[in-house]
Amino acid sequence: MYPSYDVIVIGGGHAGCEAANAAATLGSKVLLITMNMQTIAQMSCNPAMGGVAKGQIVREIDALGGMSGIITDKTMIQFRMLNRSKGPAMWSPRAQSDRMMFAQEWRDTLEANMNVDIWQEMATELVMDGDKITGVKTSLGVVFNTKSVVLTNGTFLNGLIHIGEKQFGGGRSGEHAAKGLTEQLVALGFEAGRMKTGTPPRVDGRSLNWEKLQEQAGDENPEKFSFSDQTTTLTKQRSCFITYTSNEVHDILKTGFDRSPMFNGRIQGLGPRYCPSIEDKINRFAERDRHQIFVEPEGWNTCEMYINGFSTSLPEDVQYKALRKIEGFENAKMFRPGYAIEYDFFPPTQLKPTLETKLIENLYFAGQINGTTGYEEAASQGLMAGINAHNKVVEAEPFILKRSEAYIGVLIDDLINKGTDEPYRMFTSRAEYRILLRQDNADIRLTHLGHQLGLATDERFNAVQKKKEQIETTIETLKETSVKVVNANPHLEASGLQTMSHGLKADKFLKKTKVGMALTMECAPSLKETFAEFDIKALEEAEVLLKYESYIEKEEKIAEKLTTLENYKIPEGFNFREITSLSSESREKLSKVGPLTLGQASRISGVTPADVTILMVYLDKKK
Ligand code: FAD
Repeated sequence: MYPSYDVIVIGGGHAGCEAANAAATLGSKVLLITMNMQTIAQMSCNPAMGGVAKGQIVREIDALGGMSGIITDKTMIQFRMLNRSKGPAMWSPRAQSDRMMFAQEWRDTLEANMNVDIWQEMATELVMDGDKITGVKTSLGVVFNTKSVVLTNGTFLNGLIHIGEKQFGGGRSGEHAAKGLTEQLVALGFEAGRMKTGTPPRVDGRSLNWEKLQEQAGDENPEKFSFSDQTTTLTKQRSCFITYTSNEVHDILKTGFDRSPMFNGRIQGLGPRYCPSIEDKINRFAERDRHQIFVEPEGWNTCEMYINGFSTSLPEDVQYKALRKIEGFENAKMFRPGYAIEYDFFPPTQLKPTLETKLIENLYFAGQINGTTGYEEAASQGLMAGINAHNKVVEAEPFILKRSEAYIGVLIDDLINKGTDEPYRMFTSRAEYRILLRQDNADIRLTHLGHQLGLATDERFNAVQKKKEQIETTIETLKETSVKVVNANPHLEASGLQTMSHGLKADKFLKKTKVGMALTMECAPSLKETFAEFDIKALEEAEVLLKYESYIEKEEKIAEKLTTLENYKIPEGFNFREITSLSSESREKLSKVGPLTLGQASRISGVTPADVTILMVYLDKKK
């Protein structure tokens, strides 16, 4: 009766939206089943996208043809490039979004995609024929037939919310928990675990004393996430504000510790270590007499404020009393208290590099269900799962990104090989090629791949080709041009470079620490003319490539060497136990993970370089 689908995506969160949109854009008939259409792409926690390492992921999603960057641009109320004082590998774009606009923009995007159907209900069961997936059953008993399923349930699977001693089922504040799927998956042989995360109270901005808070404005020249020209930069922004807790605040919070689910053992799941609750911070860093609090608006027109740094599951009366002792919060009114949530996840070592499960063909997992935390991590997995689900349906090659190609590659490789026992978030330190994986060059790294897939448009591909040509011309021109006007240049003097000799080639001049492209053009005026029509982004890129040339070359060489291992395929289903010269630990680990390349095998903890050599010799003999 109902139509049959190529891909059913369960869950309309960040992972689900990207998955549904990608598979549908590529041509699959997609059904998105989500519990509540009003909460599609809801930002459960902080209404912000990007930040350190996460900003790089959003740019990568954008370059591949995903939507998170564009939607963030269209809904942002503030933009900041974090870490600008550090090297370009560390620069990270971060935007504060209007929470309601963000969700609306995603809904509009999905509604505009004629290959996406939406069904509002809870999915309760996967319909199987042996170990093959054939459909999805909902709580009303409706069955939809499909060739593949992407599960993106977020924090909803058996979600349990904690506020002090109170606990109740829920996937997010005010929303039902999802029942049935975990139990079925465990019965099918999947291993499941429990994790926890938390969120701070939201307060009424009309009740705050803004005079006492320190303003943190957005960047003077804000950028944007998307490389496309579908979006523009902000012309006005909303500020965030900073304040601090105090010993008095901590003392009040401590009065609730005996009723805290964190400390009395009621919460079993492991939470994110780097994003601790305020009670956790007071406990772990007892010597600190204050902690920083960011007061962040939830949108353009709302007075609702997100109290970043004050995540808590203490009783609501304790939260309220403590909040009112924070400087500027003396009369604060709370809209809703903070809470913690425990939920089921599935250790991601049960997945292939395509995010398809090893146990059940055509079943994919993406997002928080894989033990990650964060919208960006979820969205990127959704995009990859959506692409791969579609590719499998049309019998196209799997789409896998290498660690040297993208943070998304690092994320998935870490998850499937190492697993995670606490909520996994991306850090720049997780990437071994972070000079290659910059936010500024995500388009150059990935647009051609998105274009090959059919996700990134011709316009985008052509724009990147043009940018690449301009970068090359810029570098060549700089190498051929001599710096002329050196003495008596006030900017040079200010930089302490006035003794620079005439005749130096512009590329060498640019490489000096304090010299930027603008100063170089001033000291070699012919460049101004040559570069007059060039895209500023191409000039900036050329500058980065020249300044970090030696580091970039070094990382490229290492990546090239490792490519040999990455390209060395291991047949699917290979029996590692037959290689008796491997240690029993290695055989065990390799059998569990089932790596598909020697590169992947080399990253499994407990598998040594000697094991990799043995494996290679063995595979060579079998050829
Ligand atoms: P979600 O955004 O959770 O979306 C899941 C979607 O699936 C929902 O729309 C839900 O309705 C739907 N769904 C679930 N099960 C079913 C079903 N059976 N049938 C139909 N629909 C279903 N991240 C951070 O980085 N830092 C934080 O501090 C942080 N704090 C958080 C605090 C709280 C209280 C919560 C709830 C989340 C927090 N997060 C935090 C996590 C962040 O919200 C998630 O990482 C991100 O939203 C995950 O995206 P997702 O698509 O996997 O799942």
